[in-house]
Amino acid sequence: AFNFCAGPAALPTPVLEKAGLELADWHGKGLSIMEMSHRSADVVAVCDKAEQDLRDLMAIPDNYKVLFMQGGASSQFSMIPLNLMTGSGKADYIVTGQWSKKAWQEAKRYGNAVVAASTESNNFSSAPSQAELVLSPDADYVHYCPNETIGGVAFDYIPDTGDVPLVADFSSVLLAEPLDVSRFGMIYAGAQKNIGPAGLCVVIIREDLLGKAQACTPTMFDYKVCADNASMYNTPPTYSWYLAGLVFEWLKDLGGVDAIAEINHRKAKRLYDYIDNSGFYANPVAIANRSIMNVPFTLADSKLDKLFLQESEAAGLLNLAGHRSVGGMRASIYNAVPEEAVTALIDFMADFARRNG
Ligand code: PLP
Repeated sequence: AFNFCAGPAALPTPVLEKAGLELADWHGKGLSIMEMSHRSADVVAVCDKAEQDLRDLMAIPDNYKVLFMQGGASSQFSMIPLNLMTGSGKADYIVTGQWSKKAWQEAKRYGNAVVAASTESNNFSSAPSQAELVLSPDADYVHYCPNETIGGVAFDYIPDTGDVPLVADFSSVLLAEPLDVSRFGMIYAGAQKNIGPAGLCVVIIREDLLGKAQACTPTMFDYKVCADNASMYNTPPTYSWYLAGLVFEWLKDLGGVDAIAEINHRKAKRLYDYIDNSGFYANPVAIANRSIMNVPFTLADSKLDKLFLQESEAAGLLNLAGHRSVGGMRASIYNAVPEEAVTALIDFMADFARRNG
């Protein structure tokens, strides 16, 4: 079966196989890595290697900390204002879909979170241009979501925010294509798309942004505490961290982010080209803002949705239903989804359209 789930998403098959083999007896130690102390040399080595591999994959500059945190990406919606909205008390939020809207709504609880641009009036089907962003020079940071998972809307540029730190929710597009980390104050990503199991969240933060947290910030939410303790202030989610490390190793073996980006762009282009030329399926997103990871599409007649989902599942093409808030279909084609999956999907879609068009 091929899994097109938006999250938790498919994990690379070789990673699952390796983790399966090591599950009960890690490296001949007679116990699972899940059962080992996070202070043991073995676990610390696994965690350090995962961080180093991520640093290598993304060419993360030395003046950035990599944190392995908990509570998914959603906890960051509170941690970001708690840690960073502490200068002028104001932050700019670019709203291009449900996730960036949630981030903005949460930030409002902690300070003056201002909408710098919103595409809600066009049903979140595009991203604003740089010229459309209304940014305040005295904002503590600017927040945006480069790839909105639900709407399949992606920025085709990195916003220029001058000296104001840019904070980005890369949950559904981290490691999908090369990225210049130095353009950002902070990058974060819930793990369950291109990294590993849900619950883990990777945070990449420039060192000068540490140590600014509001006094009321829970200790566990303070980026400086997390950085000073190498993400082990408490017992970290070691098994998820270990699995993330296996995914990073897999990606390195494959040739790294450049190699996967080429595959990702090819997969997305084939799917969009098919949809656009089908006369039966449609994608509502402005062409420049189409996501390479999440491809929503509608059928010519929504009455056929149920049949499409039944038949696709029977054909081994899983989790193609769109988000419950928008309906239609969505194929998420993250790093772990192989090209054969896209071929199988297009073949199925073409056959379905022939029979029902
Ligand atoms: N941000 C984006 C872009 C997402 O796609 C998701 C989840 O799918 C989240 C945030 C929330 O992540 P979590 O469920 O890990 O809190």
